[in-house]
Amino acid sequence: MNRRDLLKKSLLAGGLSMVPFSSVFAESKTNPEKFENDLSGYKKINWGELELFVLTDGYIHETDVNSFAPRGNVSELKSILKDNFRSEDYIDMAMNILLVKTKNKLILFDTGLGIFSDEKSGFLLKSLQKAGFSAKDITDVFISHAHPDHIGGVVDKQNNFVFPNAAIFISKIEYDFWMNASIKDFNNSALKSKPEMLGQIIPALQNILKTIKPRLKFYDLDNVFYDHFSFQLAPGHTPGLTVTTISSGNEKLMYIADLIHSDVLLFPHPEWGFSGDTDLDIATASRKKLLQQLADNKIRAFACHLPWPGLGFTKKQGIAFEWIPEGFMN
Ligand SMILES: [Zn+2]
Repeated sequence: MNRRDLLKKSLLAGGLSMVPFSSVFAESKTNPEKFENDLSGYKKINWGELELFVLTDGYIHETDVNSFAPRGNVSELKSILKDNFRSEDYIDMAMNILLVKTKNKLILFDTGLGIFSDEKSGFLLKSLQKAGFSAKDITDVFISHAHPDHIGGVVDKQNNFVFPNAAIFISKIEYDFWMNASIKDFNNSALKSKPEMLGQIIPALQNILKTIKPRLKFYDLDNVFYDHFSFQLAPGHTPGLTVTTISSGNEKLMYIADLIHSDVLLFPHPEWGFSGDTDLDIATASRKKLLQQLADNKIRAFACHLPWPGLGFTKKQGIAFEWIPEGFMN
């Protein structure tokens, strides 16, 4: 396996990189493909008093499809992929990023792969620009959790803030977990079998969190924030994974971030887990609980890694669930 394959593979395993920063940077610099193949773009949705923009950071190409079901059945997994006209050899995971414009705030939900990106990702800033904004316009960054594909774009490779005027929010549980994390915290994770990867990624994430500490604020889980946002924990994928309910008038949209990583596999089988889950049991419990909440209340969801643009509804299907993507005419 060459370095790039290793990086891609490890990115998907919860967005974790095994490759030292210097190699990643060297590789992306010498790779002209990225500049020839511009994957940037956005979709604007007027939603009551808010304007929503879905920005793409690109995608993650995963050739180890079993990552999507560490507790699943491989032959059933392959037949589900086949029945849904998907390749049985790889899964492409979208990198959808939400930008919300309120009366006086411009809020980015997660920051993409940034310093960890390869030729298929790292397009967030270009997408932001296409949508009519620049990095300095961002007033707030709401981080769902501290995996590299969500926090990698918050600082550049010289440790400078990418969004110079933004306050950065994360849950206190998430911050404390990563700042004190060690391999023993992954005993109930598929990542347990990858100690070298954890040994490299934990310090890399700690470095980012230390760098952004002066700008960092913790979510208030008890009160509505900026009139439109309320936060709840959905632990398991990481201990402090935070989902945000966004309200506009009577309508609600829930940013579920990495609650679920596949439409066709994990809605019918939320118990199969995902290889990046820090604790497979807790993640499964949160996944089922939140999917039930979305289905019961018919709330629209926005997911980082479900097929572009990541918006849709959740339906109860027997004892499990089904993802109904929202259709758009433009
Ligand atoms: Zn992710």
